[in-house]
Amino acid sequence: MYSTEEQTTRTTGEVTELDQVEYPLMEDFYTIQGEGAHTGSAAYFIRLAGCDVKCWWCDVKDSWDESKHPRVKTGDIVKRAKESGTRLAVITGGEPLLHNLEPLTIRLRQEGFSVHIETSGSSPLSGHLDWITLSPKRFKEPLDEVFPYVDELKVVVLKKKDLEWAEKNAVKCPKGTRLLLQPEWETPESVNLIVEYVKKNPRWGISLQTHKFMNVP
Ligand code: SF4
Repeated sequence: MYSTEEQTTRTTGEVTELDQVEYPLMEDFYTIQGEGAHTGSAAYFIRLAGCDVKCWWCDVKDSWDESKHPRVKTGDIVKRAKESGTRLAVITGGEPLLHNLEPLTIRLRQEGFSVHIETSGSSPLSGHLDWITLSPKRFKEPLDEVFPYVDELKVVVLKKKDLEWAEKNAVKCPKGTRLLLQPEWETPESVNLIVEYVKKNPRWGISLQTHKFMNVP
């Protein structure tokens, strides 16, 4: 869990002010968390636009340029999230930490949401986060200040050298962090690599992109 400050009860005036703060939003939608430690949970996904990491294999390249996406008020995002019925919000991207998440996460918490984030950790943490999934990318490495707060380390594996990259990041994470290796969807040979590695190194587990098998967004 990460918090920039103790969360206090806000007055109506402050809530209204926070609700006016805008974020570049690529999409928001109600779905099932398909990967990682919370696989299978109903979750409201908030995909913020903008990414400066630029992995060549990225499957959401449309998210990179935030100027191509509308700026949406926090109040509107939170309202739609509430209407979904779940109280689990997942903020993703793009790279969501390019934005100050304080207003959005305060408002989600006030409405009873548990707030999760999926990040490369390459920009400073902000906001109030109940679960931090770090997916480190070699193209722009995570900041050291992020590691103490990591709940789940999820490393995408294409080749053997990605396993070394996974271990390099794992040593910086707190004891108790969930350690997960995830095959890259378009690289089926990565599955065998991971299976053999996890059998030899059982502190790691496997994360699969089950939403792709189930055909849910
Ligand atoms: S950090 Fe994520 S959104 Fe950014 S390029 Fe890499 S995979 Fe794509």
